Amino acid sequence: MSELPKKEGNFFEWYNEVLERSQVTDKRYPVKGLNVWPPFGLSIRSLFDQTLRNAVGPIGYQEVSFPTLIPETELKKESEHIKGFEAEVYWVTRGGNTPLDINLCLRPTSETAMYPMFALWVRSHKDLPLRTFQICNVFRYETKSTRPLLRIREIHFYEGHTVHPTEESATRQVQEDLGSFEQVARSFALPYLINKRPEWDKFPGAHYSLGLDIPFGDARTLQVGTVHHYRDNFAKPYGIQYETEDGKTAFGHQTTYGISERLIGGVVGVHGDEKGLVLPPALAPVQVAIVPVPGKGSKEAVEGAARALGSTLSAGGLRVKVDLSEDRPGAKYYAWESRGVPLRIELGPREVEEKAATLADRFGKKRKVPQAELLSEVRAELESFLTTLADRAQARFRDAIARAKELSDLKGPKAVYLIGWCGKEACGHKVEEVVEGGLLGTIEGGSPADIVQGEAPPCIVCGSGPSRWAAAGRPI
Ligand SMILES: [Zn+2]
Repeated sequence: MSELPKKEGNFFEWYNEVLERSQVTDKRYPVKGLNVWPPFGLSIRSLFDQTLRNAVGPIGYQEVSFPTLIPETELKKESEHIKGFEAEVYWVTRGGNTPLDINLCLRPTSETAMYPMFALWVRSHKDLPLRTFQICNVFRYETKSTRPLLRIREIHFYEGHTVHPTEESATRQVQEDLGSFEQVARSFALPYLINKRPEWDKFPGAHYSLGLDIPFGDARTLQVGTVHHYRDNFAKPYGIQYETEDGKTAFGHQTTYGISERLIGGVVGVHGDEKGLVLPPALAPVQVAIVPVPGKGSKEAVEGAARALGSTLSAGGLRVKVDLSEDRPGAKYYAWESRGVPLRIELGPREVEEKAATLADRFGKKRKVPQAELLSEVRAELESFLTTLADRAQARFRDAIARAKELSDLKGPKAVYLIGWCGKEACGHKVEEVVEGGLLGTIEGGSPADIVQGEAPPCIVCGSGPSRWAAAGRPI
């Protein structure tokens, strides 16, 4: 197969080609922006969903499932929200040949589907906090050019929705959600920044919005997740009220937490290389590929040993594939590498004789281990592979971020610029004029945590203080 386009300088050519060759998604469906998930891609997506479930279960979220269709009357109850979404909504206006009494939209997000039901579920302070999430597909009529996993019209989406008795309790939830995201990001070896979006760029209807952003592609940024604090902005129009301990009635305070398949795009874009996909073990449908390399007359013995090692690793809970296809070993290595398999085991007559196996990670690091210790050695190797992946990603993350002292610095080649910002809207818009709409917001944290250090410099536009550290970059 021909070589992949160079990643640097041709990012999207490379990105599209990697997705297509490794069969993560298939964009040839006859409607633009609605992509198909072939088996390999769907396995990645299922592992992705599982990672999210594992991260939010321990902080009290319970999984629910709501309908895809939302009545127009519910969608329009919160005025800011509908203003923000009306240009992106798909409508169902007929049932068969009969016009519907009330038009139904395909959910662009599920606040307006869930909150009428929350109003029924929440009665007393004892029902709070309520923490629910669903993993579903949402629909947005995207008018810009679409890109697989990144900008599409049917989006695979994790959405967490909570109700709390007080604003403070909702604020604590925001912190817990950020903690769970850190766990997800660690599993995927992705560094990120938490940016509090400017007022004019927050989620429609939110009190404030936090964006989880990563440097991506050729000097761009990608929002891979969001956490919003709603205060009681939705509870009021949807009537989510409860009886307090002293018998009064109060509105709930709410948060949401959203992560979409974009994060899978983030993993592909950040870790992939000139050979194709590089997957962290948590997302790899095949974590270990065992490739027998038989010499003359040793086919049976070598393949038998490969099968036995495969069984040992599978029994240990790993996702393993013993590659007994007719291809030459070199072609097998290439195929597994391009699909991002973290670890390969090479097994030849010498290894069989020595009761050993050669482990080779996705970056080509090799070592020989005794078969008797295979399971623990492979587990250790997968751990160390994740660390290598995180170190590499972190080095590039640091390299993609720079401090800007003057507005003209923002025109440089970095993905993210760190600036001082006084918080005034006029100064924010000035920054956006220079970086094509990209004031990502004030920096509230991230991983690694030492990206911003010390006090923020004076505002990059007006030179006044006090100011906050903020991030500027061009979102995809
Ligand atoms: Zn200013």
